Amino acid sequence: MGRSRVSFVLTVAASCSVLMGYAQTPTPSPRAGTPGGRRILTGWGGGKADDVVPKAAAVGFRELVVHHENAGNFARFIELGKQHEIDIYAWLYLGDLPAWKKAFPEHPPPVQVMNSEENAALERIKADQSVGKSQYQFGGEPVGITEVLLTPLLCFHDPRVLEAFKKQIGEMLSVPGVKGVAFDYIGYQNYRCCRCTQSQNRLATYRRQHVELTEEQSLARFSLETLVAFNNLLSAHARTVKPDAKVITHVYPVYLPEPLYGNRLDLDVCGQTAAWFFAPFWSLDKIREYARTISGEGKRYHRRPDGAALIGYYNSPEKYPVKSRERLTAELQAILDGGCPRVHVCSFNHVLKSSVAEEVFRAFFGRSAER
Ligand SMILES: [Zn+2]
Repeated sequence: MGRSRVSFVLTVAASCSVLMGYAQTPTPSPRAGTPGGRRILTGWGGGKADDVVPKAAAVGFRELVVHHENAGNFARFIELGKQHEIDIYAWLYLGDLPAWKKAFPEHPPPVQVMNSEENAALERIKADQSVGKSQYQFGGEPVGITEVLLTPLLCFHDPRVLEAFKKQIGEMLSVPGVKGVAFDYIGYQNYRCCRCTQSQNRLATYRRQHVELTEEQSLARFSLETLVAFNNLLSAHARTVKPDAKVITHVYPVYLPEPLYGNRLDLDVCGQTAAWFFAPFWSLDKIREYARTISGEGKRYHRRPDGAALIGYYNSPEKYPVKSRERLTAELQAILDGGCPRVHVCSFNHVLKSSVAEEVFRAFFGRSAER
């Protein structure tokens, strides 16, 4: 998650890419009244480890996702995380052009391509300086006219993109004590497909193999199948590099033909949005229903994954309405009522800069709240 998630995320922290791992010992008994087991709070973000980890521990975070590029700070996250029973994950995101340059310094990055209507939407969104940005949702489910993501993303239909991120995963998992990797931004800038030449060529091949499908059906199936495959190839690669590494994700940006496709991903924990950041805030019925699907359907396709419900929390009152104590409490309760004890929040930095938000999350996830 981020900003234009980039400006949103990277400004916010490092991004919503910091998750906290849950402690291995001691193992608290499952909390009474929590269907599906123990509550685990994961945070995405960044910042300086010494400023962040002790405060996150006091709130009850068990996992944090942060950027690994500053090796000293990342090692400190891991060191402090160990002291505070917080697992640390390295953030991998599909907009990471430096990761591409590192792997293929001689070649321009193969970024995703959109059509003229989508590019016009991009320019309109970029130019919109109004407060609240006309309800632009930054990669969440759009509520108005055509939306696209502000952040350019690499096209994973180019096999070199898979190679670049395999290399990066190797680098991440070589850091002593890291719990695993956390995927972010793996999706389409236009929320549906990529229109670059390589993607169109592969789509044409797919259509020849699936003549029974309409053009619309084949585009949606090709786009979803390749999106899922990219995630699963990276996840399998991580286990090859380090068998006990964990792979987690936040499904983002939204894939409009099937927003809750995350249970198709064969990784350890799949975070899917249950309560987005921005107004209009989602209804509690929708939050409960999404949480029920995220958790209850988490193992529909694979034995491995647990579902996690992501709640967005963005505390910049001069720009966007901020969720109140009552609103945050109601959203978290709706997620738990939907039967999803694993919760991801982005960004943890925004939680930690608000005593109200800290108190709300501590009441649900704090060590002293364990029962
Ligand atoms: Zn493409």
